[in-house]
Formats: sequence, C-alpha cells, structure tokens
Amino acid sequence: MSMDLSVPETWRVKGPLYRLEAARCKTCGRIHYPPMPACPYCGSRDLERVTLPSEGVLESYSVVYAVPEGSRHKAPVLLGLVRLGRVRVVAEITDADPSELRTGMEVEAVLRRIRSDREAGIIRYGVMFRPKLKGGSRGG
Ligand SMILES: [Zn+2]
Repeated sequence: MSMDLSVPETWRVKGPLYRLEAARCKTCGRIHYPPMPACPYCGSRDLERVTLPSEGVLESYSVVYAVPEGSRHKAPVLLGLVRLGRVRVVAEITDADPSELRTGMEVEAVLRRIRSDREAGIIRYGVMFRPKLKGGSRGG
C-alpha cells in the first residue's frame, strides 16, 4: 500500500460545521479536496465549489509516527484514505485507536482543532474523520 502522506497546510473550514467543501474542475470533472484555485491535472481555472458527503468509507489508512514539530504530543497520527461518494480524500482519523481501524469501516466527519499558534493568535480547525458508531451511543 502506498499513499501520499502530506497533510495540506491550507486545511481550513470556512463554511458551516462539518461542511466539506471541494472544488470540481469544470473542464476535466475531477474533484479536489481541499479546494484548489487551479486544477492540478489539466491546469484549468474553471472550478466550482461542491460539498462532499460528510460520511464515507475508510478505504485505507496509515499510522504515522513522524509528525511535525509542535504536534508530537499527537503521535501517532492516523491518516485515512476516505471515500466520500465518488471522491477520495486523505484526512486525519480521530477518536480511534489504531487497533480499531478496519478497511471498509464507515466513518463520519467531525471538526477538530488541528493547530493553535499562540504567538500569532491563530487557531486552525480542520475536518477529521472518526469511526461511525452504530446506535449513536457515544456522547459528546
Ligand atoms: Zn481539470
């Protein structure tokens, strides 16, 4: 298995909670998440915003022990390849132990604080995914 482990620095959520905004290229039809100003495949700048489903299926995942400075307390980080309808996104998996993860399990989007830069007064939020629970017994 191989997958791109780079987590985009630009992850931000500007819309309502749990809204997964992506950009669909009107020229080639590919969907990019997070949204990009230009399509990396065909170079088109004719993109439109689309909202991805907030629930999907975990197709693959990696346990990452080498995390950037400032986030080491979070190690290991779980990165998942999540299928949302027709689109696959790479996102952090939260509220889960590595041993709980299974390929093919259902996951749902949650909004989490991903970084706080106290000096700059910036708190970034990002969409992560967590295992979807049957019966909804988990609180909070
Ligand atoms: Zn394109």
